[in-house]
Amino acid sequence: MPSLQEIASCVSGYDPNALPVAQAQEFIARFVPRVGAVEKVALRSALGRVLAADVVSPIDVPAHDNSAMDGYAIRGDDLAADGETRLVVAGTGFAGAQFDAVVPARHCVRIMTGAVMPPGLDTVVPQEFITRTPAAGPLDETHPPSPLPRQAGEGFIVVPPGVVRRGDNRRLKGEDLARGSAALARGRRIAPADLGLLASLGCAEVAVYRRLRVAFFSTGDELRSIGEPLDGGCVYDSNRYTIWGMLQRLGVDVLDLGVVRDEPAALEAAFRDAAANADAVITSGGVSVGEADHTKKIMATLGEVLFWRIAMRPGRPMAIGRVGNAVLFGLPGNPVAVMVTFYAFVRDALLQMAGASPQPLPLLRARCTAALRKKPGRTEYQRGIVTRGADGRWDVAITGSQGSGILRSMSEANGIVLLHHEQGNVAAGAEVDVIPFEGLV
Ligand code: AMP
Ligand code: MG
Repeated sequence: MPSLQEIASCVSGYDPNALPVAQAQEFIARFVPRVGAVEKVALRSALGRVLAADVVSPIDVPAHDNSAMDGYAIRGDDLAADGETRLVVAGTGFAGAQFDAVVPARHCVRIMTGAVMPPGLDTVVPQEFITRTPAAGPLDETHPPSPLPRQAGEGFIVVPPGVVRRGDNRRLKGEDLARGSAALARGRRIAPADLGLLASLGCAEVAVYRRLRVAFFSTGDELRSIGEPLDGGCVYDSNRYTIWGMLQRLGVDVLDLGVVRDEPAALEAAFRDAAANADAVITSGGVSVGEADHTKKIMATLGEVLFWRIAMRPGRPMAIGRVGNAVLFGLPGNPVAVMVTFYAFVRDALLQMAGASPQPLPLLRARCTAALRKKPGRTEYQRGIVTRGADGRWDVAITGSQGSGILRSMSEANGIVLLHHEQGNVAAGAEVDVIPFEGLV
């Protein structure tokens, strides 16, 4: 496992005191290990888990050519070059009960959606296009007498010209997934559609990576837990609740170690406990310049840690390191900074550790309803409310104060306006990138 210093030397222009967001992300991606252990779970339990092996289709889906419509299966060769086509009805094919007798020329088979195409027939005429005559007997003097035994409901159909071409309304064997083809790739987080896809292959169990275990605690003498009296100068600990919520959405196992006082012995015990029981440890508070000394001393004995000042707002101070075998994410204490740094760095890191292949988040382009001041040289994450304008395009308004302690701004927002590192002031009406909260986690 490379040391933090070795990784730093691979990140071009690495400066821990003014680290651009993209470099911090690159550093973290190089640093975090993957858990690797694999377990088999029942299909439904696989929702949200990370696939540990490629799934190759063991069968063709669908297994046979079948009808996409309720109608009549015909032979494309029987369609008249011009004018209407008359065909004798030879019988009916239902989904799950196929019509497998040989169908003579100029005959058709009534067919339901999903029913297997009778041998030799290649086209389906939707029922709304045809007229059907129950009369038995020859259709016209040119039509040969039917070799089939007479059946109830038989008769003939008339297909008007031009309503179908050969091959229409037929689903081909293997068109969804051909046998032997890759259905899902390792590293995929299993979504509802994937559960259905796996079910269509008959997979009852799925190999997934084991769940990541993430421990977290808050640091600060001023923090009180819910239920405790709020002494003068104290605040309730909210970070353990936002962190818990964000971790739940990632599908990891969580270990809440509570509030830890700013005392070396208490902090050391908490780090030891967390590292012994988790793959990753998330702390909040205690990483700003004035407070980091505690943590630095403890980490010198327990592991290694880097203290960063990231070129971002909110969320400038952050620590990254290793305690025992666990990865440490030391987030700043301010409640908005905690959430922003979690989404900017921790989310993808945890997904990567869990074996997933994190993809860049989709961004929405929205018109900013007011001008924004922004200095080039740092990434800003402003909280925004996105609405649809009268012209159908997206507008975004910044929630009131952007102070990093104002958690209400996160709660009111439905997206984060992402002002990129090099970007400068934004004029009213100009488009900006927004990370929508919906679908983020
Ligand atoms: P720190 O990073 O420890 O200097 O904390 C920065 C600010 O965030 C201070 O105003 C803290 O009181 C506040 N803060 C730190 N941790 C929490 C927490 N867990 N819940 C709410 N506020 C916090
Ligand atoms: Mg503190």
